[in-house]
Amino acid sequence: MRRAFTATSLPEARLVQQMLQMAGIEAFVFNANAVGALGELPATEIWPEVWIGRDHQQNAARMLIERYESVAEETTDCPKCNEPNPATFEICWCCRRPLAVTL
Ligand SMILES: [Zn+2]
Repeated sequence: MRRAFTATSLPEARLVQQMLQMAGIEAFVFNANAVGALGELPATEIWPEVWIGRDHQQNAARMLIERYESVAEETTDCPKCNEPNPATFEICWCCRRPLAVTL
């Protein structure tokens, strides 16, 4: 089990977790509960982290995360639930509605 990604927010951590799971990679979010304790701990210690469960999936996870980070600024809002999705997503991570192709 290894840390693959440190998110700046819980929704971002969930997004990365969902992206990895959609690719068949076992991913977990840690520190999710600590986010509510802002003000009691240094911020850097409570950022949610995405961990990969299986060592042989580390490389695939890293590639997906690198791609995610390179397009993180580009998002498409889901027409159904209004959640922002990375521009590379074909299906909404939240409600699984197919997204319009914008690239
Ligand atoms: Zn949606």
